[in-house]
Amino acid sequence: MVYEGDLYRPPSEAHSLIIQVTIGCSHNKCTFCHMYTKKKFRIRTREEILRDLEECSRLYGQYVRRVFFADGDALIVPTPLLLELLAYVKEHFPYAERVTSYGRASNVLHKSEEELKALAAAGLQMVYLGAESGDDDILAHIQKGETSAEIIAAGQKLKRCGIKTSVTLISGLGGSQNMKRHALLSARLINAMNPEYAAIIALHLRPDSPMAQEIRRGEMELIGADEIVEETMIFLRAIDSPGTVFRTNHAANYVALAGVLNEDIPRMLRQLEEARDRQRYRPDWMRLL
Ligand code: SF4
Repeated sequence: MVYEGDLYRPPSEAHSLIIQVTIGCSHNKCTFCHMYTKKKFRIRTREEILRDLEECSRLYGQYVRRVFFADGDALIVPTPLLLELLAYVKEHFPYAERVTSYGRASNVLHKSEEELKALAAAGLQMVYLGAESGDDDILAHIQKGETSAEIIAAGQKLKRCGIKTSVTLISGLGGSQNMKRHALLSARLINAMNPEYAAIIALHLRPDSPMAQEIRRGEMELIGADEIVEETMIFLRAIDSPGTVFRTNHAANYVALAGVLNEDIPRMLRQLEEARDRQRYRPDWMRLL
């Protein structure tokens, strides 16, 4: 099996078998994102995907515990094909405990509740949704192509249909001027979705991304570690999402947090305060991915 182009996966899928069911991202316009800019989006054919699954099941069928469907928004794949792939995984990877994928809110909203429930029953356990922000001005500015109401609706729909969600936010997207609003509206988004998992990743840009060019032109300001910590503290103080597992464990983050909302919020706030007071941040050279 040969992967097409660069491959991306969430940190928690480090030990998963990754199967590309799509190439690239169907949207591919977010101004901070460099992941799939070199790829022309397409849904791979049934034959291509099954060939990869067949090869992997022959070689590693007994060892695979987790399967991750890539690339950027694999949930866009038509439901009948996804159901066939999930059935293949169930039959040929007997020890696979879960299948997960990336998805956009629009992918979720385009599927009916019956389709999503069928996917859940077939083994799709979780979808990673990149929300980025709960602030509609920021979402428009980064060309996310979705509103906070749509992202919330997608998260609530997945929950109703028995599919877990892992929601990602990006700190720093509002610069220092809109930091507070970004934090508060992002907390509101998480409160409304009450996902199983939520994560914040500190903004990190490739020099050729449209947002990096905006910064070079002086149209936007990249905030530093102290402000990122401040933003995360505003977010945590506004959170009410019982049971959500919260992490900032991405390599781009200045401070790594892990806890369960709401009970671990005081401890995580203390950790952030301590990191800020002692300037104990992950150095920039280590944040390069
Ligand atoms: S939807 Fe996700 S993968 Fe696609 S361009 Fe935006 S951030 Fe990148």
